[in-house]
Amino acid sequence: MPERIPEALQEKLTKRLTFYQDIGIQLFYRDRYPQQPASVTEEIILPKPVQKPQPVRPVVETRPAPPRLDVFPVASGPSLFEAINKIPDDTLLKIRTDLGDCTRCKLHRGRTKLVFGDGNPKAELVFVGEGPGRDEDAQGLPFVGRAGKLLTQMIEAMGLQRGDVYICNVVKCRPPENRTPERDEVETCSPFLLRQLDAISPKVIVCLGSVAAQTLLETNRGISHFRGEWLDFRGRKLMATYHPAYLLRNPSAKGEVWKDLQKVMAVLGLQGKKSSQAGKSS
Ligand code: URA
Repeated sequence: MPERIPEALQEKLTKRLTFYQDIGIQLFYRDRYPQQPASVTEEIILPKPVQKPQPVRPVVETRPAPPRLDVFPVASGPSLFEAINKIPDDTLLKIRTDLGDCTRCKLHRGRTKLVFGDGNPKAELVFVGEGPGRDEDAQGLPFVGRAGKLLTQMIEAMGLQRGDVYICNVVKCRPPENRTPERDEVETCSPFLLRQLDAISPKVIVCLGSVAAQTLLETNRGISHFRGEWLDFRGRKLMATYHPAYLLRNPSAKGEVWKDLQKVMAVLGLQGKKSSQAGKSS
């Protein structure tokens, strides 16, 4: 009779398995790190995952890994994102419900409001930022501060309204003093971003700044190496451009961002606002 694992560890494992279920991981492989010795968890009895009210999602067979981008993957093995399958019939509402009153990473301790995302759930264009700032944390909405106002101008210059697109962030809770989100925070939160992107299924994803770009592309290359190029993200077109907050500090970079957005407009068949130049007025 194998020894039972202690209750505290059972609880930890249950939490972790529930997290995997929330982010859509249902298949596990023992040979992901073949060089490591067999772990003790293989011999112990795993606790039953907590029964959630919603029906168990069907297991989807892993599709063959898409070709990796030529912008340097950080890891050499299969990536976390490759392990996450698209959840059939997923919706933003289900994702928000699964996030709940999230305490999965340390960022929850300093937040006022979780900032899930905002906009058209069927948007052809999604903007992904880094994480909420002070204004966003207070209002529970993404990009509502100074950088957000500039983003709104950029969207309008493209001939769209904010409500036509979807706007979200890599991390859903404000990092203290607006610091860059840390690796564990990004790893914990980004699978929910992935679910959002899969559920919305946009034609184009625009990453605002290096955190969004590096997270989705799973690269540690600087954004300037691939900004403005069309890249692939799970079969969708992805464009990385500078963050509006960077543009506030470096207005001379607005022209480059506008060129990137014009490429996006071409793909989406947008004419843009007459005589507009993104954010030139600010
Ligand atoms: N910066 C971001 O990256 N996201 C926001 O929501 C606001 C500012």
